[in-house]
Amino acid sequence: MTRSQHPLGVSFEFFPPGTAVGRDRLVQARDALAARQPRFFSVTYGAGGSTQQRTREAVGVVGESGITTAPHLSCIGSEKAQLRDLLAQYREEGIDSLVALRGDMPSGMASIGELRYANELVAFIREETGDHFEIAVAAYPESHPQAPNLDRDVENFARKMHAGADMAITQYFFTAEAYFHFVDKARALGVDKPIIPGIMPIVNYTKLARFSDACGAEIPRWIRKQLESYGDDSEAIGEFGTEVVTRLCQQLLDGGAPGLHFYTLNQSAPVLKIVDNLKA
Ligand code: FAD
Repeated sequence: MTRSQHPLGVSFEFFPPGTAVGRDRLVQARDALAARQPRFFSVTYGAGGSTQQRTREAVGVVGESGITTAPHLSCIGSEKAQLRDLLAQYREEGIDSLVALRGDMPSGMASIGELRYANELVAFIREETGDHFEIAVAAYPESHPQAPNLDRDVENFARKMHAGADMAITQYFFTAEAYFHFVDKARALGVDKPIIPGIMPIVNYTKLARFSDACGAEIPRWIRKQLESYGDDSEAIGEFGTEVVTRLCQQLLDGGAPGLHFYTLNQSAPVLKIVDNLKA
């Protein structure tokens, strides 16, 4: 029997919790979001494999929903033998989707490992496991922070799609045009697979600003200015954030985006306020 899915093809990302309270919050978010019949859930992975065990446990918890659950997996700092073992474990546990990433070197880690870029990880997964896994990779509509420019980054993106990825999920952004421009550039390089926009709800401005600086996502000046004016009024930030991000999502869908992937930060309420506002 095929499971019916949300008409907009939404999917939701979680992180592996580190405490019992965090686990309860994850279960709560999972149940609230599972009710919207997402295409899939995904669970992030700590740099250098630092959350390997916690990611596996969280994948188990999230997967109890019956919804396809894709672990993220990064290669930087790992040896092929470790990755081979992890892929075998996931296969045994019935996992058939992955988000394949290079990741970032944690400070203090000595060796880059055997695979330097995500295209090498995708090729390795295909060599080791054939077509068993559906593989998603990361895309950066506003360019990856380490790339010299957008053109080079799109070429590198196309390389990992051509290595055998089935879809891409983007870093979050707040300007729809950046996404459409990136998709056009990728299509011109022969990428014909879905590129799903990654969507970050706006909940906490201080954290969002810090994170955006680190990952190279631009918060447009008009949004930044308005959010700054709210100070610590979290209700006003949430209301404005819902309005801005809902409008962004609607623009993306109206322009042909093949779904939306939400960074939930293990909270369902901010995401649902957006999802339930959208029209097919
Ligand atoms: P790559 O695609 O390898 O790109 C990294 C950089 O190298 C880019 O600048 C690119 O232009 C360049 N490059 C790529 N290939 C080549 C090549 N062959 N030769 C020369 N240059 C090249 N991080 C985590 O630690 N855990 C997670 O769970 C996680 N999940 C994420 C999910 C999504 C949807 C996104 C968008 C990001 C996620 N990240 C995660 C962050 C990600 O690990 C970092 O952005 C990391 O810096 C790059 O990973 P990547 O897979 O995009 O790398």
